[in-house]
Amino acid sequence: MRPGEGANLVLRGATVLDPAAGIEGTHDVVIRAGEIAELAPPGAGDTDGLEVVEAEGLHAFPAFFDPHVHLRVPGREDEEDVETGTRAAAAGGYCGILAMANTEPSVSTAADIEALREEAREQASVPVGFLATVTREMEGEELTEMADIRAAGAVGFSDDGLPIRSARVMRRALQYQRLCGGTIALHEEDPELSGDGVMHEGPVSAALGLAGIPSVSESTMIARDAALARYEDGRIHVQHLSAEESVAAVRTAKAAGAQISCEATPHHLCLTDEQVRALDASRFKMNPPLRTESDRQALLEGLRDGTIDCIATDHAPHAEEEKTVPFEQAAMGVTGLETAFAALHTDLVLGGVIDLGLLVERLAGGAEPFGLERPTLAPGSEANVALCDLSAKWTVGEEGYESRSSNSWCAGRELNGRVLVTLAGGQVAYRLRSFSLGVAQ
Ligand SMILES: [Zn+2]
Repeated sequence: MRPGEGANLVLRGATVLDPAAGIEGTHDVVIRAGEIAELAPPGAGDTDGLEVVEAEGLHAFPAFFDPHVHLRVPGREDEEDVETGTRAAAAGGYCGILAMANTEPSVSTAADIEALREEAREQASVPVGFLATVTREMEGEELTEMADIRAAGAVGFSDDGLPIRSARVMRRALQYQRLCGGTIALHEEDPELSGDGVMHEGPVSAALGLAGIPSVSESTMIARDAALARYEDGRIHVQHLSAEESVAAVRTAKAAGAQISCEATPHHLCLTDEQVRALDASRFKMNPPLRTESDRQALLEGLRDGTIDCIATDHAPHAEEEKTVPFEQAAMGVTGLETAFAALHTDLVLGGVIDLGLLVERLAGGAEPFGLERPTLAPGSEANVALCDLSAKWTVGEEGYESRSSNSWCAGRELNGRVLVTLAGGQVAYRLRSFSLGVAQ
């Protein structure tokens, strides 16, 4: 993030909603020097010297935080980089993201972390936290220098893309994690059970004649790692929960007192494996795979009861030639930063499945599992704000993407709800081109 003086503006008459801070009502959101100075009654905010944004009828939320993004640096700058990835985040209403380490080569040393943090200081439009791999070259054998990596500023550790196959290695990692801090984020999958699977194992995979990945491939590894985390008093975060059995495993582990948190993605919350019947099914290929309606319902229940702490996009940019091939050969992963809020608002909130407050709370919930501060609109806080027009309709991809890749799972869909302005780290990180920000008083 480039250093600046901080935004000076007022969102006049905005509908303000920050359930985690107990804030709900119509206010002038007064932002001075990058801080939320005041939530004043509409029209009563001291706007002296501030840029005024007429926000009547618009919603101001705490900006979102995504703990699971693939920025593809180093190595695949043709798909994404720090600049384009954080621009996509800002356009999606995010004030912070965490970048995964499964790059080419992987992020595995203190020097790698230092270099990326420097790159982010120069290029990022929203703050980025970096994770390093748990094991060298993600080979699952030898641990990285976790203490040095932490000292260089890594937020945590993850071999995401791959599971940590060996329980012995996982246990050692937890022992180091307890000493040096930094949450371990886990892609949970038993490779023995997943085999050559390309989609969820069930009636649809049987009908299509495709090799399946069973739900227990995920849930048995969660149960193993939750038990290890409890035994070693370590801190883990389970990534992209996809199955009913997995929600149950996390719920049980939390009840037993394990230091465990977890996330679910917009695509797993909105879609099922029925999508794979589509002609352009490669668009819906990801790991973990889309599962059944009862899995989706279990994820929604987990979101409601707090078993699932946060929504993470698992934004995974891919070059077009990796996706426009037959399903079995297609790369796994979809982009999601620019559409998460609108897609979930359209499908779940307008669909009557969850309420707006819960969506906002879970979209901003990705910081705390990594020991970072939750974005909030409480006066005195750094300004991290997503200003949204819930009545705006737009078609995904019609005006292109901020991301360098276009493998969006909801490309071509008309969505309801649009981010107009994002403040991140006290600065204006994004404004929709067609929305004029206001006039200086
Ligand atoms: Zn993963």
